[in-house]
Amino acid sequence: MDIKNNIESLRCNIPNEVTLLAVSKTKPLNELEEAYNAGIRDFGENKVQELKDKFENFYKDVRWHFIGNLQTNKVKYLVGKTFLIHSLSSIKLLEVIEKEFGKKNIIADTLIQINIGREESKGGLLEEDLDTLIEAIEKCKFVKVKGIMAVIPKGNEESNRYYFKKVKDIFDSLKNKEFKNIQMEILSMGMTHDYHIAIEEGSNLIRIGEGIFGKRNYNLQEEK
Ligand SMILES: *Cc1c(COP(=O)(O)O)cnc(C)c1O
Repeated sequence: MDIKNNIESLRCNIPNEVTLLAVSKTKPLNELEEAYNAGIRDFGENKVQELKDKFENFYKDVRWHFIGNLQTNKVKYLVGKTFLIHSLSSIKLLEVIEKEFGKKNIIADTLIQINIGREESKGGLLEEDLDTLIEAIEKCKFVKVKGIMAVIPKGNEESNRYYFKKVKDIFDSLKNKEFKNIQMEILSMGMTHDYHIAIEEGSNLIRIGEGIFGKRNYNLQEEK
């Protein structure tokens, strides 16, 4: 497994304006370091404790992205440590982010995660709940929304495309309106096995784990 080669070949396959987020969950720091040495500065984690540990023990110019399901009681540990939270998905979570980041007077940059396939096993907001969330976001002082994130249902190329298009439509429709605290800039969709389709459908941030670091070994953790 050659992390540097993987990154270089990914770079050859993606346009310059697409951000390559290296999803380093479960991976040890020496492997993150290989990615860092190959030029990666954006790393994604899905567990708060793991992000916190890595934040404290790794290069300070790294941009840490939180891409997992975020429990409200853990938000406080992310303050000052995350560049972008990809998983804003409820009013309750919004309120806690507002409160915890507000205490330290720090702006929380976030993406709204949409559960586009309406899967019970997945996090994210259902489309019909967007308007209510947006109303609440407009009242915030410390939360900014920079775009949309989605994890699509497993499927073939045709179904991947269908879901990516649906997410892009939501992104575009919000982009065409004006809301306080919301600026649609980042469309975070696409993973190791579907990133090329995601980019064709408008993604400008892809989240790649296996395609950089190889398969994950979860031992005690469970894969979603
Ligand atoms: C694990 C994970 C990824 C990376 O998945 P790969 O298939 O390893 O590229 C991307 N996004 C989210 C939200 C994840 O949890």
